[in-house]
Amino acid sequence: MALIIQKFGGTSVGTIDKIRHVAARVVATQKAGNDVIVVVSAMAGETDRLINLAHEMIDKPDEREYDVMVSTGEQVSVALLSMAIQSMGYKALSLLGFQIKISTNSDFTKARIEDIDSQRITKELLKGNILVVAGFQGVDEQENITTLGRGGSDTTAVALAGVLKADVCEIYTDVEGVYTTDPTICPNARKLERIAYDEMLEMASLGAKVLHTRSVEFAKKHNVTIHVRSTFSRNSGTMVMKEDITMEKVLVSGVTYNRNESKITVVRVPDKPGVASKIFTPISEANLNVDMIIQNVSEDGFTDLTFTVPETDLKHALEVVSGVVKEIGAADVQFDKDIVKVSIVGVGMRSHAGVAAKMFNVLASEGINIMMISTSEIKVSCIVNAKYTELAVRVLHDAFELGEEVAVEE
Ligand code: ADP
Ligand code: ASP
Ligand code: MG
Repeated sequence: MALIIQKFGGTSVGTIDKIRHVAARVVATQKAGNDVIVVVSAMAGETDRLINLAHEMIDKPDEREYDVMVSTGEQVSVALLSMAIQSMGYKALSLLGFQIKISTNSDFTKARIEDIDSQRITKELLKGNILVVAGFQGVDEQENITTLGRGGSDTTAVALAGVLKADVCEIYTDVEGVYTTDPTICPNARKLERIAYDEMLEMASLGAKVLHTRSVEFAKKHNVTIHVRSTFSRNSGTMVMKEDITMEKVLVSGVTYNRNESKITVVRVPDKPGVASKIFTPISEANLNVDMIIQNVSEDGFTDLTFTVPETDLKHALEVVSGVVKEIGAADVQFDKDIVKVSIVGVGMRSHAGVAAKMFNVLASEGINIMMISTSEIKVSCIVNAKYTELAVRVLHDAFELGEEVAVEE
């Protein structure tokens, strides 16, 4: 008997009808002779609604209370799915993070899973139950409810698969798999049969929200193969797995974008030792993630220092930076939320020069100004004005020949 983990995202459980459809799929998997654990997200739009409510109450909600609240979306969907399965005459049991238990650290709103207790799960499976587990949530040492960060239900599923040594971990979503770029903005995006962990990790962390970044980290660490596929079709999707020699050796395998970026410029910073440390130490102490940093050429002993933070952290970062501006003798702090990070990703770049230059040329030929650049062995990222998001993604996707092949008539 195989153990199969199936995770269904928000759009897959967005309505009562869709939940019934998911129930039928899950039951069919059990009827085929498997143990099944289903992980579900909140119904589509529900987590956003809860977050907005919290912010309506108070500008900066207490993070513990925020987690108590935003985790409730999953409590509703697990109960509904269990009811749907039971209404078909099968045994189902919903389980919340603390009931399992899924132990995390206390980093509210972005907690990390540290341990999963498999005892209760094993016991309930033996009774013939289909287990319906709430994604996205856990519990810390003091028994506080925690959440794993937006999109975190993927991580719940992959972590369960790793700990329980599941035979299959399927992530069901509203597209047919992982594509060369977001298929909702690039109609000729191509579905990948397989993708290596490192590439997927890079794509996810650069904005391809089809998988939560930590779920891929977890999969890589525990060697879990993830099958990303559609809730609404029977087609097989994309296998996210260990790199192997039969994988396509392409230069660039995908294009991503991330609109959740904002840039902060500290203007006229005295160009002397210790200044960068005075700016970035309090930022890191506030647990804010800085991504790109550039420092302009100094003029008359002064320079501008620009860096990016997630837009969701902008307000907090501005408060922290404003606190040190006077101390370091800088003139002003400015910010820009209207930006996007567009990236090309591919392990093939490791051994090829000229990829970055090609990216810059392609953007220039469309009149898209590049504000910031960062590179690693397997990616190049550019910050550009957000109004160019779709255009930049499509021209890069075409320039690196990532699209579906179009049949040419003889
Ligand atoms: P779920 O609610 O099922 O977790 P998400 O909205 O989190 O679904 O993720 C699926 C979405 O990811 C797709 O609808 C698509 O718009 C987006 N996406 C972005 N980049 C990619 C990509 N490279 N491949 C597939 N989907 C992508
Ligand atoms: N419901 C959570 C979110 O919207 C977790 C998830 O969907 O994976 O971010
Ligand atoms: Mg998701």
